[in-house]
Amino acid sequence: MAELRPTLDVIAPFLNEAQSAAAFVALLDQLEAAVSQRFGMAMHKILVDDGSQDDGVERFSRALSGSWEIVRLSRNFGKEVAVLAGLDRSRGDMVLIMDADLQHSMEISLTMISELVKDPELDVVYAQNDRREASWRRSQLARLFYSLINSSQRFDIPENAGDFRVMRGAVARAVASLRDKRRFNKGLFAWAGFRQKAVPYSPEDRASGTSKWSRLNLLAFSLEGFTSFSVIPLRLISLCGLIAAFAGALYGAKVFFEVIFYGIAVPGYPSLLVAVVFLGGFNLALLGLIGEYVWVTLSESKDRPIYIVRDVVSGEFGRGKPGTAER
Ligand code: UDP
Ligand code: MG
Repeated sequence: MAELRPTLDVIAPFLNEAQSAAAFVALLDQLEAAVSQRFGMAMHKILVDDGSQDDGVERFSRALSGSWEIVRLSRNFGKEVAVLAGLDRSRGDMVLIMDADLQHSMEISLTMISELVKDPELDVVYAQNDRREASWRRSQLARLFYSLINSSQRFDIPENAGDFRVMRGAVARAVASLRDKRRFNKGLFAWAGFRQKAVPYSPEDRASGTSKWSRLNLLAFSLEGFTSFSVIPLRLISLCGLIAAFAGALYGAKVFFEVIFYGIAVPGYPSLLVAVVFLGGFNLALLGLIGEYVWVTLSESKDRPIYIVRDVVSGEFGRGKPGTAER
């Protein structure tokens, strides 16, 4: 049966979320009914298994109904890449990206969809986490991160906006056409442009399991954001280097002046030690930072595929054959 209604593709990446499979499918069913009733849209579900070790795929495929597919990646590639795998399979008129851990609610999804349906001038509606629960220190750190990364660009990466968003098909295709290997989705969405609008939300508590983000992960991810979207750290360091060199020259001139005109003996190694330790440490840090950028260049130039699909399992009315796995 050819589907003539406009379609909404829902993309949900998951990693070891077997416990929330049934509940998430229930949420999708509810969403499908609401979307069909309120906006006359059909729904196609694209779940991406990002290398799960549990029986999630089995549970999802048993529970899912209607038009769906599960793209199984060959291993864990990270959420950012899993989202791309979903975008690559999507053909819908509208695309919704949400987490499979029940932190992203149906209500907010519907709000975002209705904003997009209401206003033809809009292309993207994203959910902006109001971070009520986060500590003051953490939110200040986030603010600093965004003001630094946005300080010299023609596009702004919005604060606290993740992958939870609804966009028109054209936007999804545009973002999928950005083939960065080291992916920082927030940045890619901002880079792609289009007319965007924020809808505030606060994520639900996780139904089960734990977040896959550790503090160290977050730090690495922020660095990813910098190295793929900003030259500011490099420029800052060049500036610091210049200032240090200038200060050194001034200090040298002062010492020289004192020796020549006042005959003051030069205080020897304390000042030397300060200079050596300061500049040595600074150099090491700078080298590490340049290394990060070199590493990004290296991974982009190797030209490996961004992800590998093991197979695609699809449902009754899915785009593949019923209950089969295409490889
Ligand atoms: N996820 C994924 N691959 C990963 C890590 C996470 O597909 O390598 C999925 C995860 O199953 C969930 C979503 O991405 O559906 C968000 O992950 P998580 O809940 O760990 O992040 P948080 O909500 O804490 O930002
Ligand atoms: Mg989560």
